[in-house]
Amino acid sequence: MADVLPKKTVLKDVKIFKDLQEEIIKTNKCCACGACVAYCSSQKFDVIKMERYTPQYISDANVDNCKECGLCYYICPQTEPLMKHLNEDYRIKDEMGYIQDIVAAKTTDDKIKEMGQDGGLVTTLLTYLFDKNKIDAAIVSEYDEKLQPIPKIIYNKEELLKSSGTRYSISSNILPLTELYNIAQEIIENHHQIYDINQIRMAFVGTPCQCRAVRKMQLLNISPAHVIKYVFGLFCMENFDYEKLFQLVKKETNEDPANITKMNIKKNFFITNKENKVYEVELHKFDEAVRNHCHDCDEFTSRFADISFGGSGAVQQNSMVVIRTEKGEELMKNALISGYIDRFTPKKSTITEWKASKIDLLRRMTNNKIKKS
Ligand SMILES: Cc1cc2nc3c(=O)[nH]c(=O)nc-3n(C[C@H](O)[C@H](O)[C@H](O)COP(=O)(O)OP(=O)(O)OC[C@H]3O[C@@H](n4cnc5c(N)ncnc54)[C@H](O)[C@@H]3O)c2cc1C
Repeated sequence: MADVLPKKTVLKDVKIFKDLQEEIIKTNKCCACGACVAYCSSQKFDVIKMERYTPQYISDANVDNCKECGLCYYICPQTEPLMKHLNEDYRIKDEMGYIQDIVAAKTTDDKIKEMGQDGGLVTTLLTYLFDKNKIDAAIVSEYDEKLQPIPKIIYNKEELLKSSGTRYSISSNILPLTELYNIAQEIIENHHQIYDINQIRMAFVGTPCQCRAVRKMQLLNISPAHVIKYVFGLFCMENFDYEKLFQLVKKETNEDPANITKMNIKKNFFITNKENKVYEVELHKFDEAVRNHCHDCDEFTSRFADISFGGSGAVQQNSMVVIRTEKGEELMKNALISGYIDRFTPKKSTITEWKASKIDLLRRMTNNKIKKS
């Protein structure tokens, strides 16, 4: 058989990291999610790394280490091959994706209320999952004193508040999975329930492109995404390049990132400094800082998440919550029953209209995003 179909002939059409470089990375379509590097590292192939938000060969000498398996290409959220299957699996028929239910809700925890971006729902549901022993870890995005995002795996709920709120620049949230196998022994020693690192149960928080990459990895059943049990997607109109964003923030407000406590996009950009002064700057003034890959993106509400969260459409201090899977629905229901969250209840007679109007709004916003691209 090997003589009839030599290995190189079979693999000829498989796209590999070189193709990813040519088609996605060099054309600025890479969203720096870190999926390619996380998969390749988990296999210990020693071929690629992430350098300043760009996946690349570790060195020229490592190019030949590539096993040409092609998986980095297939799991990239920006490539086409798996999209048809993924859309079928997640019942996606239009730009909004499958919607099991849509609600607005907020946390009942005062500290999370203060720190959260909108209703603090993401942090609260992660807290619930830790409390109820449904997860052992979560992948979130923390930040340094200059608001530079730090993607990270955390192993207990006490660390959750450090990730609350939104930083509007890229955070390679799949990348931390590269550490999973490196520190496997340490994790096993610290968690008496885990005997094998593959048993660890994680929740993942990320932007639409990042959730898409996680789902592609899960579709192919490849490590290390097999440990992700809950996918929390964030609404995302656009993401920004950190350096360019804060150069423009400085120009518009004269503030340095170290003196900023909160940033929020609600039609315009609202920037709050440590003295509680709020600047409102027109959003288009930051256009130059938008990452190039966002221009091609047709997802706003994270179609591949178990639950998607955003501020758009929600009443003050609530999050808009789009429930997409049975698992997501059960989690929301249990968190509500256990008193972790409060649900906004429109008048009974108007509930159907209310839901339809929210879906309509999000559809319009999604189509605006698509039109912009
Ligand atoms: C780049 C970006 C653009 C967004 N644009 C919109 C928008 O246009 N309209 C809209 O309605 N909502 C948008 N959102 C979502 C919104 O800002 C909130 O994240 C969402 O409403 C959840 O709020 P919360 O209070 O429930 O979350 P919280 O409890 O405050 O938790 C926020 C979670 O977000 C994660 N996070 C923070 N920054 C990042 C980052 N840079 N990348 C990945 N994860 C991060 C943290 O890990 C944390 O777990 C955007 C989010 C991001 C990251």
